[in-house]
Amino acid sequence: MIDRPDPFGDRPDPDLWRDFTRYPSRGFRLGKYEKRSIEQIERVIIHHTGVGILGRFKRDKDRFGWTIPIQAAIHAYTRIMASSGHYVIGHEGQVVQFVPENYSAWHAGYGGRRRRSRLGEWFAKTKYTRKLGKRPRWVCRRDGRFDWWDVRWRLRQGITSPLAWFPDLDTNGHTIGIELLSTPRHEPFTSIQLRSLRTLVVDICMDYGIPIDNHHILTHSDANPLARTTRRGVPYDPPASKYSFQAVFG
Ligand SMILES: [Zn+2]
Repeated sequence: MIDRPDPFGDRPDPDLWRDFTRYPSRGFRLGKYEKRSIEQIERVIIHHTGVGILGRFKRDKDRFGWTIPIQAAIHAYTRIMASSGHYVIGHEGQVVQFVPENYSAWHAGYGGRRRRSRLGEWFAKTKYTRKLGKRPRWVCRRDGRFDWWDVRWRLRQGITSPLAWFPDLDTNGHTIGIELLSTPRHEPFTSIQLRSLRTLVVDICMDYGIPIDNHHILTHSDANPLARTTRRGVPYDPPASKYSFQAVFG
């Protein structure tokens, strides 16, 4: 049983981390995230911030005196955006925590159990309903436009949709979100960045008894591949060789 009286918990073990800071996110400060019992936490979702953060860094670095891009991420998640992962990891391996683990952050769609409009894209629009109790229908794949989805999912035998992992459809409620600061043109994440990611994931998994495998450590593409493709079915996440369980954990 893990006891975390401090809402930001007892991570990190100072021996493990060279650079760990905490900045409560705007969404957390606004009270948008639901508190959850830590027994609910059963998977980790790895994201990338998107290259927009790098653009923001370039544009505003003189104005704010930033020297490294993660400062732009801190600015965005604490002052502008209501959604964020629990953690962001910088190119130099810095770990920044934005949301306590006992809150479900908005990193895989907005809202919690009662409000998950973004997940509507998983459902046939006409059948989708926010009312609890009525079963939504899955969006069907159309004419091979989501071939990429099949490629992702072939690894996961017998699982027909990511949300089947979470019977109550509350992806955020059951997961911890970690964002890798994106690299320009989706170049490989830095080795020190991936090292911090592995350390953090292993630490989290040990705390919650989460197996370290590709059913429990997911990328955002895995958790919601439709949201990670353009309307024409082209993925805009980095390729799986750089952004997948295999790429990170080998
Ligand atoms: Zn994401």
